[in-house]
Amino acid sequence: MFIDVAKIHLKAGNGGNGCVSFHREKYVAAGGPDGGDGGRGGNIVFKADDNLSTLADFRYKRKYEADNGENGRTSRCTGKSADDLVIRVPRGTLIKDAESEKIIADISGDEEIIIARGGNGGFGNQHFAHATRQLPRFAKPGAPGDELDVILELKLLADVGLIGFPNVGKSTLVSVVSEAKPKIANYHFTTLTPVLGVVRMGEGSSFVMADIPGLIEGAGEGVGLGHEFLRHVERCRLLVHIIDVSGSEGRDPVEDFNTINNELKKFSEELSERQQIVVANKCDLTDDETVEKVRKHFTDSGYEFFAIMAPIKEGTSELINHIAATLATLPPVKRYESEIEPYETHIVKKELRTFTVRTENGEYFVENCDWIERIMNTVDPDDYESLQYFERVLRSSGIINALIRAGVQEGDIVHVNDFEFEYVL
Ligand code: GDP
Ligand code: MG
Repeated sequence: MFIDVAKIHLKAGNGGNGCVSFHREKYVAAGGPDGGDGGRGGNIVFKADDNLSTLADFRYKRKYEADNGENGRTSRCTGKSADDLVIRVPRGTLIKDAESEKIIADISGDEEIIIARGGNGGFGNQHFAHATRQLPRFAKPGAPGDELDVILELKLLADVGLIGFPNVGKSTLVSVVSEAKPKIANYHFTTLTPVLGVVRMGEGSSFVMADIPGLIEGAGEGVGLGHEFLRHVERCRLLVHIIDVSGSEGRDPVEDFNTINNELKKFSEELSERQQIVVANKCDLTDDETVEKVRKHFTDSGYEFFAIMAPIKEGTSELINHIAATLATLPPVKRYESEIEPYETHIVKKELRTFTVRTENGEYFVENCDWIERIMNTVDPDDYESLQYFERVLRSSGIINALIRAGVQEGDIVHVNDFEFEYVL
């Protein structure tokens, strides 16, 4: 089965925690702080792989997690940073933020693109020593790695897209002008997955042609195979619209042409305005007079027109020469720009330090705040400065304000997860 859309969950690695430790040596009384920093969490990186042609792998594995950085250690030892997790996708895959459906990146080039950033490691207590704070008993926790759901959407990269009704000869054309061998048969929807064919023009020049399943009237309402596959011609620089000029299936070729263009418009206004060349196939099944009538209709409407018999390659070399010449005048294959600033989505999530405040018997319970656990692990409740650091976190995350709004008074008991303290102004 051809899978061209998938939704997956990404979790970049957390940074390792900074370490609290003090230099210890025989005969040296109070050693200075020497807790090392945590290592960086692994990024999640996407890379195009030309050996892949579908997103099928992502149907079965939906969760991707990069490793966490290691915690810092004593003697100023920095924790090891985690390796990046590289996810390979077919070239032409768009990565969208699942929440906003905005494009984060277009994996069409060769560069690796970071989609989820690993958290920085926390500073060890070696950084927190200064003249008035000689024994810092706290270190910083590592920052959490980005976590987000993304939608992968494959939009094939092709110069030319073939469009038209089923059975008009699209697959036959691709098979005679390129090395691609799509399935050809005399029934509708033989082509169920897009096929890319490379058309070689000699002297190293070539272009890529995409054969997609045929469209029919009502595709927008899901009739036939629907509009699904049109996403694969969205990037095409040029559309080649094939009609069965003989009307061998009892339809009128000009009506067919208009029907398909109406469907294109329903899918995307932009795509319906893309330059089109009209190709009349199955000339062997009709007379020259009919072909000339159809030719006149289209040339009068301003279209380039070619009459061919695909299976015997009649007229196909003129057609591909013309396509190549037209492509030379057109802008390159469309690349999608990011619609959100890099990491915008993730930063919002990072700052989302959620919690709830509940009162019971005059005591205050701060709950649903797993994120604070990581911070508390690096705080020493018996150390004044360490507690001050903890208090700053409570303030900056809005917990103190929420407690005040809930009516907390001096001396009231506040619970934060398992930690309990008296509220002091
Ligand atoms: P697609 O659905 O548009 O991809 O059409 P196919 O390429 O699968 O062709 C459908 C049928 O039409 C096949 O049986 C082909 O052999 C036949 N066919 C294609 N081109 C021609 C042509 O120029 N003349 C004739 N007589 N038959 C053709
Ligand atoms: Mg076909």
